[in-house]
Parts: sequence; structure tokens; C-alpha cells
Amino acid sequence: MRLRNVTGSREVIAESRFVVQEPTMYKGRWNEVFDNENPIQIEIGMGKGQFLMELATRNPEINFIGIEKYSTVLLRAIQKMEVQELTNLRFIRMDAEEICAVFNCGEIAKIYLNFSDPWPKDRHAKRRLPSRQFLARYNQILAADGRIAFKTDNAALFDFALVEQEAAGWKIEAMTRDLHHDKKMLAGNIMTEYEEKFSGLGNPIYKYIIYR
Ligand code: SAM
Repeated sequence: MRLRNVTGSREVIAESRFVVQEPTMYKGRWNEVFDNENPIQIEIGMGKGQFLMELATRNPEINFIGIEKYSTVLLRAIQKMEVQELTNLRFIRMDAEEICAVFNCGEIAKIYLNFSDPWPKDRHAKRRLPSRQFLARYNQILAADGRIAFKTDNAALFDFALVEQEAAGWKIEAMTRDLHHDKKMLAGNIMTEYEEKFSGLGNPIYKYIIYR
């Protein structure tokens, strides 16, 4: 994403009512942010927010939180919310490594990982969002019947994710190596920015849904 030169993004984020500025304050109390008891789902590495905004629009009875590490990217999602405000969607700017400081045990109903960074070097494997280190974090914050849904066009990352899922004792509910030609798994699919780009180039899209 070539957004590095967007000036003032940190200032905009610091003042945005769509961004939860001190997320650790709400650990165990996220329903107060939304002022209801609806379930909460999160996307980690939400990018510019296209997927999550559409998901939140289609599901007003669910609360959504988008987590994004980079201000310049998050800024784009904030700008979209200024045009089309959604009361069931909020953002956090943080590194997902800190996720257990922000959410309580079982507080999250579902986690979406879409086109996560591949971190191709072996020594960076633990930074990959479907790694066993991250699965251990998700294990803490997900409800007992919670699910993780992961999509990517990167075959090596998907194969890695399957090894990690098995090693960490998670089970596969559904899986495809060609989402856009899998009628059942494609039902209700919402395209992310990266999904539009890479499926447009003819790349197959891989997806799993896992639980424990
Ligand atoms: N999900 C979007 C999509 O499918 O279009 C964006 C995909 S982009 C390749 C990956 C995004 O994840 C980037 O915006 C990156 O900054 C973010 N990201 C990567 N690692 C992260 C982490 N540890 N915590 C929060 N965000 C992260």
C-alpha cells in the first residue's frame, strides 16, 4: 500500500471518534463502547476497511472492531466512515501482538484474517498472523464456540497456516483452495481490497474456517 506519505494521519486518528484511543481500558467491557450486548467480531490487519465496512453494513446485530497497525492505512478507513458512519464498527490502531491486553477471555465471537502479510523469512514466522504464536493469543480471547476465518492468495502462507492450525490443536470446519469456484464457501463472500486485486490477476483464493 503506497500510503506512506499521508501527512497528519496520526493526528486524525488521535481525534477520530471512530477509533478507540485507549483500547486496554475496555478489556472485558467492549459492550460499553457499542452500548449493547451484541457479539463482537474483529478483523486483524484490516487495511483500508472495505471488507469490514461491508460486513458491518450487512450485520447490524453484530459489533465489529478493525485492528490495523499502520496509521496511514487506517486513515483511509476513517475517511470512509466519515462518509458512511456505522454505529456497529470501531477501529483500533495497534500491533495485534498486544491483543490479549485489549480483550478478555472469550470476549470475541469471531476473528477474520484477510490477506495477512506473508513474512517469507523463516525467522519471521512468528509474526505471521496464522502462526501458532498468534493462535495461542486468539485461543485466549475467542469464545468457546468462536471461529477464525482466514483468506489469502499466498499458497505458501496457507500451507503454513494449515501446519500451525494442526500443531496448535485447532480443527477445520471448512476449507478451499479456490474460494471463487467453491459455491458453498463463496456464499455471502465479501471481497477485500487485496482479494479484488489478486483474484483479478487470476490467482486462486485460499480460505479456511477453524475452531477448537
Ligand atoms: N485485509 C486487507 C485486505 O485483505 O485487503 C489488507 C491486507 S494487507 C496485505 C495486510 C494488513 O495487515 C496491512 O495493512 C498491515 O499493516 C496489517 N498488519 C499486518 N500485521 C499486523 C499486526 N501484527 N497487527 C495489526 N495489523 C497488521
